[in-house]
Amino acid sequence: MSRVYNFSAGPAMLPQAVLEQAREEMLDWQGSGMSVMEMSHRGKEYMSIASKAEADLRELMGIGDNYAVLFMQGGASSQFAAVPMNLLRGKNTADYLNTGAWSKKAIAEAKRYCAVNVAGSSEADKFSSVPSQDELQLQSDAAYVHYTPNETIGGVEFPYLPETGNVPLVADMSSTILSRPIDVSKFGVIYAGAQKNIGPAGLVVVIVRKDLMGDVLEATPTMFNYQVQADNDSMYNTPPTYSWYLAGLVFAWLKDLGGLEKMAEINQRKANKLYTAIDNSGFYANPVDPACRSWMNVPFTLANPELDGVFLEEAKLQGLTSLKGHRSVGGMRASIYNAMPEAGVDALVAFMADFEQQHG
Ligand SMILES: *Cc1c(COP(=O)(O)O)cnc(C)c1O
Repeated sequence: MSRVYNFSAGPAMLPQAVLEQAREEMLDWQGSGMSVMEMSHRGKEYMSIASKAEADLRELMGIGDNYAVLFMQGGASSQFAAVPMNLLRGKNTADYLNTGAWSKKAIAEAKRYCAVNVAGSSEADKFSSVPSQDELQLQSDAAYVHYTPNETIGGVEFPYLPETGNVPLVADMSSTILSRPIDVSKFGVIYAGAQKNIGPAGLVVVIVRKDLMGDVLEATPTMFNYQVQADNDSMYNTPPTYSWYLAGLVFAWLKDLGGLEKMAEINQRKANKLYTAIDNSGFYANPVDPACRSWMNVPFTLANPELDGVFLEEAKLQGLTSLKGHRSVGGMRASIYNAMPEAGVDALVAFMADFEQQHG
């Protein structure tokens, strides 16, 4: 067996220890005589898996009892609709910050349900930065403020937490959740598709302040209703049981590692190494304002784009895969989520230096 360092933006690497444990438990979960995939979601065994996953996530992130934690389906993209359906609560306008491709998708979907006020945008900067707090034009009658703390495609993140007064703050944290500690109490809703820092694709974790639930748009599908999901412990229907189990293994792995403070330390070191290598070379470049550079997604270009193909081929031979940039941006992108070992970043940095020497 040989595993590569997979720099994919998502689905992304999972911790090897987690995959090994899943393999170990595949045919017979802890003496139950069956795989987790074959268990009734209402049975005692599965209920213990589900509730441990939730408890571990609550502990890791410091989620208070005044928040519900939901394990839903449809990925982060389904939340682009679920958020307005659940949070408009009789209002008809919401504020959105536009900092890149994922913000735009969230905005386009929200426009189907309400008036969207783009309260801040870095589009004029080609999304190489984020608007500052002073630049935000927030409306006092907005139902909520939505933003994308880490833009996965552009590799841009907010270096600050937007201050929105009494208006609930909603964050699409798909590509940054669990990368460092955050103050959950500052948010109305946090949601994250699983395939970057949590587990398998399809699952979406939604953390929602309880007082915001229960007043949904008339046409909201029952499955999208946060209150219904909370009342049924995310088991209104059959939940994505195996994905939820794997997410639980990832949460336990993070706890073993020392929690989010420790994870943050490692992530910051990994990102610093890569950005330093890029900045110190005359061959590679990253277009993002250094104050807003993502810890998770690092796009970079080669001085000569005609070498892109060779770079990718040679990297692959070294076991460094999925470095091709998003089709809308070009160049390269290294996604270095929680499960990317520091040794993977070291290997990439060494390869980049070598490649520059040969071809630069
Ligand atoms: C990956 C991603 C999404 C989309 O997630 P799906 O699970 O494919 O719907 C949305 N927002 C951000 C910030 C992402 O990184």
